[in-house]
Amino acid sequence: MKVVKFGGSSLASAQQLQKVLDIVKSDPSRRFVVVSAPGKRNPEDTKVTDALIKYYRSYTNEDDVSGHQEWIINRYKVIIDELGLSHTILDKISAAITDLATLPIEGNDFLYDTFLAAGEDNNAKLVAAYFRKNGLPARYLHPGKAGIIVSSEPGNAQILPGSYDKLEELRDSDEVLVIPGFFGVTVDKQICTFSRGGSDISGSIVAAGVKADLYENFTDVDGIFAAHPGVVHKPHSIKKLTYREMRELAYAGFSVLHDEALIPAYRGRIPLVIKNTNNPNHPGTRIVLEHSKQELPVVGISGDDNFVSINISKYLMNREVGFGRKVLQVLEDLNIRWEHIPTGIDDMSIILRERELTPIKEREIQAHLTQNLGVDEVEFERNLSIIMIVGENMKNQVGVMSRATKAMSDKGINIEMISQGSSEVSVMLVIQSKHEKTAIRAIYKAFFDQESQDKN
Ligand code: ASP
Repeated sequence: MKVVKFGGSSLASAQQLQKVLDIVKSDPSRRFVVVSAPGKRNPEDTKVTDALIKYYRSYTNEDDVSGHQEWIINRYKVIIDELGLSHTILDKISAAITDLATLPIEGNDFLYDTFLAAGEDNNAKLVAAYFRKNGLPARYLHPGKAGIIVSSEPGNAQILPGSYDKLEELRDSDEVLVIPGFFGVTVDKQICTFSRGGSDISGSIVAAGVKADLYENFTDVDGIFAAHPGVVHKPHSIKKLTYREMRELAYAGFSVLHDEALIPAYRGRIPLVIKNTNNPNHPGTRIVLEHSKQELPVVGISGDDNFVSINISKYLMNREVGFGRKVLQVLEDLNIRWEHIPTGIDDMSIILRERELTPIKEREIQAHLTQNLGVDEVEFERNLSIIMIVGENMKNQVGVMSRATKAMSDKGINIEMISQGSSEVSVMLVIQSKHEKTAIRAIYKAFFDQESQDKN
């Protein structure tokens, strides 16, 4: 039994919906369909979710909302008309969109979420109607009815553990269940969304709940590439990678799947495959619990910029009990998240994302460290990028690092810092951002020459 999730670009037009229908019809084990809101039809287009945000803003500012309502309703209408669906479904959607502007504004913590969720909710109704019209027994199911019960954290809902048992009851349904992604309901029956892009999370939750054999996540690319296609010319798509590898790649800029989406499927031990709605015969990328046989040491290389390193040195730092804790306390008190801490004997560097800092916070850190902790030097080093070289099989092979560092030295790139966790799932290199693209290309070449690509 499979749970299938379709992203916004797969549901953006009647033409895309036809592909979705073919995909679901072609495999009777595709029994649960989780949908996003209609996405962009072209790069200039607006996602329905973004249009709903504008609508919400106008409503709460008490501006005229009719333009927004019309735009959103028309977005569905175009699809409905092209698919030849009856106007009963359009009337329902139209009423649901207009009624949003009757909800109380004051004291309504979930109003924003309710607006946003309407994109997915109405789309699921549309998709179910379209499936039925084409001879596929299908039924729309609201997440509240399905049992997706979440914490009361607007815009950042977390699934409550009890949800899974309720979802399991859906296994026996003899219809294809079409469930809107992106939101659940709280114990008090309020609509509460996951963070943006959260339909991936819904799909993963449903897959874990119904104990699916596979969670298929349909998007608009042939799976996950071994490097960013904007950086490396025609990188190959990865056939198989583990959850841990996926997490490491996603951390540094691979955004095919929402990073929270991996958790429910991983805990439920459900394999996941990322496939392309526009090329469904391509096998895509399979995310598995572990590699079955020895494969290439490296599965992919990702990179991300806008990192800052706070370089701290203090003579005899290694002898001072509690020094590290005190430094991190300074950051915690300023509500700053850090990412990595490579250390030396008398120095430590704290790597964080630029967005965590403000000029005021920076001055406070400087002052605390020099005045209260007596450090000799504090330097804020900017314009840094991290490169993640990812592969669980690295730990079984000698010479991986030397290949990577040789690729860098051949290009004359200085490695500012290196960090490798004991699990050896990844090696992280810190370099100056101006070298990021060259570095990724060089490392890609070092690990994936033609011969090894064929084997992968
Ligand atoms: N429609 C929502 C968004 O744009 C959720 C999703 O598509 O996954 O963030």
